[in-house]
Amino acid sequence: MSFSTPPTKLVFLIADGMGDWPVEALGGQTPMEAAATPVMDRLAREGLVGLCRTVPEGLAPGSDVANMSLLGFDPGSHHTGRGPIEAAAMGLALAPDDVVFRLNTVTVSGLADDGLMRDYSAGHIATDVSTRLVERLGRECLPEGYALFPGVQYRHLLVARGAAGREEAHIAVRPPHDITDQGIAADLAEFRRVPALWDFVRKAAAVLSGPDNPSKANAVWPWGQGRALTLPDFAATFGLRGAVVSAVDLVKGLGRAAGMAVLDVPGATGLLETNYEGKVAAALEFLKDGDFVFVHVEAPDECGHGGDAAGKTEAVARFDARIVAPLVAALGDTAALVIACDHLTPLAIRTHAADPVPFLFWARGVTPSGVAAFTEREAAATGLAVAPGHALLPRAIDWMRQG
Ligand SMILES: [Zn+2]
Repeated sequence: MSFSTPPTKLVFLIADGMGDWPVEALGGQTPMEAAATPVMDRLAREGLVGLCRTVPEGLAPGSDVANMSLLGFDPGSHHTGRGPIEAAAMGLALAPDDVVFRLNTVTVSGLADDGLMRDYSAGHIATDVSTRLVERLGRECLPEGYALFPGVQYRHLLVARGAAGREEAHIAVRPPHDITDQGIAADLAEFRRVPALWDFVRKAAAVLSGPDNPSKANAVWPWGQGRALTLPDFAATFGLRGAVVSAVDLVKGLGRAAGMAVLDVPGATGLLETNYEGKVAAALEFLKDGDFVFVHVEAPDECGHGGDAAGKTEAVARFDARIVAPLVAALGDTAALVIACDHLTPLAIRTHAADPVPFLFWARGVTPSGVAAFTEREAAATGLAVAPGHALLPRAIDWMRQG
């Protein structure tokens, strides 16, 4: 097409966990189908719509893996664990042979083989409380060669220095949010493979059971470990100066590791009540000079985990009305857009699924796929499939330049 110069800016709008399966409570519709999304539906009618396999075979369907794919990097070669991505977000200095775990403060029915995981967040423990507790555990329980770093609420990091060649690197403890009300014997067996780590977990539980702990945290849960995350430089790889906008550490960590700008938005919570307008303003401000923005909204995922069909539908509608609509209005046809989710968080299972995700690409003049709305079923019906998922970003750049 030759009627004018193609856009040079590319915007990714990612609604975490938005995709779903048909839901009985929604009359057999998905939240994407049930929600009023007039802007995404128009962009879908005018754009390319298909499915993208953001979670490679053999990897767990988490936001860490899936957002890495959407940012154009192959998780098969770059993903080392959840802990390392959050360490990147915190700006933690790691040696190449360090192993970093994500460490939750959790509530268990008991730290024993007949124990159950009750709450991965210890009742969404307050940050000031958990910081004091984690600092105390660091002083009183930590084995030689380990370091603890308190984070936000229940999310902390545990570093095993120089452990890359040791058993720490290989144990397979499950994410605590995936095993709510399930038995923990298998995970305790994994902890026991590293006596120093098991010793720490036991001592920490003893301290947390003491009288001067005002919270529901009664155990620590190290998981998602790996060596330091290194990503290729985003600008050098794709020729676009990029930024990420998100409330969640793992997206910030991915951006930071790829040398992107990480835009801080006050009041960005990761919940339904978040600072949508602040995210839009930050993205638009960056695009005055920058070329690429990755705007990530967490709320649909949270509602999926909560099994809240009405909330998830509302989260999808707000994403359309308060993220997509104002950005499209402000950018006009100066930018190309990709709208997608990182992974599905089906209400039926209240956790992530590895199914390919619906995406749409819009730029002025693109030949449309011919769908009526932006939904999972419409996306599957076009036959357009992008796999592996990290191919979506370079393909979007190609589509944009053909415009
Ligand atoms: Zn999730």
